[in-house]
Amino acid sequence: MERWIRKALEAGFDEAAELDCAHLVARPEVRAACSTNSCRRYGTSWSCPPGCGTLEECAARLRGYSKGLIVQTVGQLEDEFDGEGMMEAAERHARTFRRLAAELRREFPRMLPMGTGSCSRCDSCTYPDAPCRDPFGASPPMEAYGILVADACRASGIPYYHGKGTITYTACFLLQ
Ligand code: SF4
Repeated sequence: MERWIRKALEAGFDEAAELDCAHLVARPEVRAACSTNSCRRYGTSWSCPPGCGTLEECAARLRGYSKGLIVQTVGQLEDEFDGEGMMEAAERHARTFRRLAAELRREFPRMLPMGTGSCSRCDSCTYPDAPCRDPFGASPPMEAYGILVADACRASGIPYYHGKGTITYTACFLLQ
């Protein structure tokens, strides 16, 4: 795991730590928040509810993993309205996530990558008309599985919030 933490930092993440999957709890209240559709992705992707399966099915899938890697990108903002800074950090996070996912996949073919936001692997998701193009490469957001990101950060010893003037994007890879 030390090697992968180092690789995550080399790839461009600002924080990386081991994630003990025993701490991942599928919370109904987190999952319920998805149905408010504030992200506008509810019902539009195989990676998000209801396409990603019931909370019980997601919890069962989580139980198949014992270890993982949690990663963060921390962006510095000029002020709280710095949309450009937020976008830049989000894009950097997505790029680094894809790069490390490809590398991890070679060693952990059954890895579950959990991204920040709905899966964006394809230009357009096939949901609900055709099966997912890449079920093992699709990256559900942690919230879709009922995981409170702050819980995962706390359990891994990394901050959830990096202070005023920053924005943090968190993702993880469950390894098998
Ligand atoms: S891999 Fe493609 S088809 Fe599958 S969930 Fe992601 S965007 Fe949708």
